[in-house]
Amino acid sequence: MSRPNLLFIMSDDHAAHAISAYSGGRINKTPQLDRIASAGMRFDACFCTNSICTPSRAAVLTGTYNHVNGVTTLDTPMDNRLQTYPKLMQVAGYQTAVFGKWHLGHGPRHDPKGFEEWAVLPNQGEYHDPEFLYPDGPRTIEGYVTDIITAMSLDWLDRRDQERPFALMVHHKAPHRHWEPDAKHAAMYENEMIPEPHTFWDEGATRSAAAQAAKLHMMDLVEADLKAPVPEGLTPEEEVSWRYQRYIKDYLRCVASIDDNVGRLLDYLDDHDLTDDTIVVYTSDQGFFLGDHGWFDKRFMYEESLAMPLLMRFPNEIEAGTVCEAMVLNVDFAPTFLDLCGLPIPDHMQGASFRPLVGGERPDGWQESMYYRYWMHRDSAHNVPAHYGVRTMRHKLIYFYNDPLGQPGAHEPIDPPEWELYDLEADPFEIENIYQRPEGARLIGELEAELARLQSAVGDEPHIA
Ligand code: CA
Repeated sequence: MSRPNLLFIMSDDHAAHAISAYSGGRINKTPQLDRIASAGMRFDACFCTNSICTPSRAAVLTGTYNHVNGVTTLDTPMDNRLQTYPKLMQVAGYQTAVFGKWHLGHGPRHDPKGFEEWAVLPNQGEYHDPEFLYPDGPRTIEGYVTDIITAMSLDWLDRRDQERPFALMVHHKAPHRHWEPDAKHAAMYENEMIPEPHTFWDEGATRSAAAQAAKLHMMDLVEADLKAPVPEGLTPEEEVSWRYQRYIKDYLRCVASIDDNVGRLLDYLDDHDLTDDTIVVYTSDQGFFLGDHGWFDKRFMYEESLAMPLLMRFPNEIEAGTVCEAMVLNVDFAPTFLDLCGLPIPDHMQGASFRPLVGGERPDGWQESMYYRYWMHRDSAHNVPAHYGVRTMRHKLIYFYNDPLGQPGAHEPIDPPEWELYDLEADPFEIENIYQRPEGARLIGELEAELARLQSAVGDEPHIA
């Protein structure tokens, strides 16, 4: 039986609202990514279970939550003896490779496993003339990182055994901080102003004290982010807006290079008659604040950070131009990829295959709520507090337990726990925490019970203050 190929493209910190298939082009255009959406399916409720690079990547690879795979923070590299979908695909006869960002640790216990070939950036890696780690050591390659990762991928496709299916992971570094564009896109948006988001001036007055203390504001951007001195004579508000323009333009320039390079991969599939037999997936390890609430970065359980973009094309099974509103999670990716490739899903994987959803069917009892946990309490640069919570299709309850719990990379102090509650229908931008309000009080019991049910179902334990 012939099996489909898998082309899994994952970028780093690319928010769905910086893809025109999602945003309608409000701040940028991504014609190549939109090709995947128009020929396939756009997922509108795809969420990560921990909005930070290393943990989300581990969840994607293993199909398990971070308290199970042990990758809770940026300082907990993944043990490469864990079972992953690439290992299972390789054993089943797939040719497998990963190029680009790994960020799950290095060395004999953490290097990529389950790949016939790999070349990965050390930790975050560099944008320009980056060093790559190969199984036999490091090598520096001249050029721009997004172009290089694509060139490596295309070269591998050219050299592959055409008699066997392939599973290729193209993992871009971009558009991760510090958002360094290539020369080709450096002048994009030069004479334009990117619109500020609806919530740009949100002061977060009803949020928890811990959330208000996060260092994600435009004023927290550093020189390496801005790449120019702040002009003299600006009012405080003008400086905030100036900083946003500096940040968002470089971010979108990095995205433009990803878009071009995704186009190169899609063209390759077309030119080599591979389009019909290849599952193409585009995602990012989490979302990102694009000035939303006045912030950059991620980590929080708020929508812009929680949501992952997910576009999938597979002409044999996915109807063109479709949208899936059912909830899918990063832990569901591994079981879904295995399922789409006709391989068994190991029992220990905690996610569920959403193959029925890509076929347009919604199984009875499909998940309508999800469990989230961010462990890296007050990491030194961003000061985002530890929290867990539940998101249903309508509400979100967040418990800021405000405790590092001895987690690597998490820091004191321990503060009293705080709660937030949002009604995503009445308040989709999460401006108004209604935990203390009468309409919120009526919901708390039910949401707390759902949170406890999910936490127990995935095998995590409640924080006791
Ligand atoms: Ca990331």
